[in-house]
Amino acid sequence: MPEGDILRRVALRLSQVLVDQTITYCLFRWPSLAGADLTGQTVERVDAYGKHLLMRLDSGLTFRSHLRMDGAWLVEKAVDGSPASGSRAERWTARAVLANQSWVVIGQRLGMADLLRSRDLERLTGRLGPDVMAEDFDPDQAAGRVAAQGDRGIGTTLLDQTVVAGIGTIYMAESLFEWRVRPDRPANRVPDLPGLLAYARRLLWRSVNARTPTATGLTGRGQTSLAHGREHQPCRRCSTPIAVMRVGVPPLDRPAFYCPTCQPS
Ligand SMILES: [Zn+2]
Repeated sequence: MPEGDILRRVALRLSQVLVDQTITYCLFRWPSLAGADLTGQTVERVDAYGKHLLMRLDSGLTFRSHLRMDGAWLVEKAVDGSPASGSRAERWTARAVLANQSWVVIGQRLGMADLLRSRDLERLTGRLGPDVMAEDFDPDQAAGRVAAQGDRGIGTTLLDQTVVAGIGTIYMAESLFEWRVRPDRPANRVPDLPGLLAYARRLLWRSVNARTPTATGLTGRGQTSLAHGREHQPCRRCSTPIAVMRVGVPPLDRPAFYCPTCQPS
């Protein structure tokens, strides 16, 4: 599932091609947006908040989308303000297609899409925890929210977007590996929670600024994580095979990779 670093990359890319441009083509393959037409509106900004992408328009509306499991935003050259013939915009997986004179952006396999009034946004983002990637992120304040989850497992807690927003399975696993804490340790028994959150934030931002997404700073194949996705492969610190447990309550449980030796409890 795309995490905060991916969303920032998407927001930066879409900002480059959309901001200050007027929409010349608009297509939604999304039931609740049937008939919605954004042509003639100008994109003021594109932001990521947690795992949401927010596209603010000069009409006072914001187009909000979420990538869920395997969504993506594609960018293509436009032909006279519309998708070219044969464009990926024609595929049924293209849920939202917007174009300006030069560029087409295509929201593929989006997990959520809606239009809301920009002035209602604050109320909506208020339901999410503080965005771990935001400029004004306060690790001490966020750590208080995490500790308040009591004996709930730290892995589940870090994934709960209403506690802190922007961390997914990759950066949960990588941060806990660095902290030598098992994903099921009670949240209120993890040492230096502010440090842990600040560390996750550093990893996410380093990934945004790397050539391709990476939790280690390395971008070679098989080198982008220390624990995540490495089940049965030797731990890079102690050679114990990396293990995986499920965290969270089914059917919303998620994999948490860890080293049984480096992260004994
Ligand atoms: Zn190990």
